[in-house]
Amino acid sequence: VPLPDFPATALTRDELELVAEVETFLRQELSGGGYEPSLTAATTMDPGFSAKLAARGWVGMALPRRFGGGARSAVDRFVVTEQLLRQGAPIGHHWVADRQTGPMLARFGTPIQQERFLPSIVRGETAFAVGISEPDSGSDVSSIRTSALPVAGGWIVNGAKTWTTNAHLSRWLVCLCRTAEGGEPRQGLSQLLVDLDSPGVTIRAIEFLDGHHEFNDVVLQDVFVPDELVLGRVGGGWEQIMSELVLERSSPDRWLSVYLLFEEFVRTMAPTDDRLLDLVGRTCAQWWAIRHLSLSVARMLDHGHLPATQSALVKDVGTRFEQHVVQQLTEVVRQAPSRDAESLLERLLAQASLFAPAFTIRGGTNQILHGILAKGLRA
Ligand SMILES: Cc1cc2nc3c(=O)[nH]c(=O)nc-3n(C[C@H](O)[C@H](O)[C@H](O)COP(=O)(O)OP(=O)(O)OC[C@H]3O[C@@H](n4cnc5c(N)ncnc54)[C@H](O)[C@@H]3O)c2cc1C
Repeated sequence: VPLPDFPATALTRDELELVAEVETFLRQELSGGGYEPSLTAATTMDPGFSAKLAARGWVGMALPRRFGGGARSAVDRFVVTEQLLRQGAPIGHHWVADRQTGPMLARFGTPIQQERFLPSIVRGETAFAVGISEPDSGSDVSSIRTSALPVAGGWIVNGAKTWTTNAHLSRWLVCLCRTAEGGEPRQGLSQLLVDLDSPGVTIRAIEFLDGHHEFNDVVLQDVFVPDELVLGRVGGGWEQIMSELVLERSSPDRWLSVYLLFEEFVRTMAPTDDRLLDLVGRTCAQWWAIRHLSLSVARMLDHGHLPATQSALVKDVGTRFEQHVVQQLTEVVRQAPSRDAESLLERLLAQASLFAPAFTIRGGTNQILHGILAKGLRA
């Protein structure tokens, strides 16, 4: 079986300058107390911080210029994202819009939708949530039951979404609905842009293991969605979601979730004995290799490819690696991690231990990724 191709690539001089620019900005922000670094950077909502990044052209940077975007490359976005995540910056407010909804609107949206949403995405203003999973439907996306029935001028949506990250803090839900019954389960699916302030929407918190609120149940009861808020083609939901997941799976948040923890470990335990040095060396080497795979995917996107197999592989390798880092540090630190510990290392380790199981579930479980990989390698 041929292995998937990951063309070797390196950052150009301009891209390296962008790295330095973002580093300088983040250093200034950190020294001025502009934000508190966190392991949950990609889901921590701070509209003010998003606006600052947008003012520098770092939100929606790959979107077309006519909507205020920078028409920059996927690699430029990779470079900016990598630095923001490494420094634990709060990018949750614009994260979904920047990573997937903006590009989806640019690709599939009507001109009216693009005019309406893309400029505010580029300004870092509008937050979107992803409405795919349901109480009885997760891995098997084609089994979703939330229905949208046609009525004069639009659709009436009924159903429930679950595990919806930050729905309580977002204005819009990109909601996968069944718009036609019968036929193949993958047919008859459509993506509707649901205003979460609409009558009939109820959002209920689901607490994480560590007690913090990010997840939600979203119940939709007779929610009216006008025709102009159908994203892309009616019945085209399956193909659209599959291309959206490629954008979701290969990005640096799939291998940088515990970077801050590791950095703190190196800083405070200043490894001297051979065993710790070996651990640090191996971890850095693995990180660097995964980073290159992820960078290669970004370069492929810039060359017009949609590398679903490579993207699934990066997420599989990256998330298993992240969990392995947490497991190894837990063995080395030897304290039972506590969220109230005095040392930052122990607090970060406690937070990472409680959250690490999610790494290989969110965005599609690793078992599902293995299926995609097997099919991609056989093709
Ligand atoms: C932190 C986090 C954030 C999330 N945010 C969102 C969000 O914003 N929006 C959203 O829509 N969803 C979100 N999810 C949900 C996530 O996409 C689902 O949890 C995931 O797709 C798995 O679905 P499930 O939980 O229903 O598990 P199930 O599909 O019930 O799977 C249970 C187990 O069976 C295995 N399994 C299932 N089918 C197969 C198969 N065919 N072959 C082999 N093994 C299989 C799975 O790998 C898993 O181990 C989030 C999840 C997490 C953890």
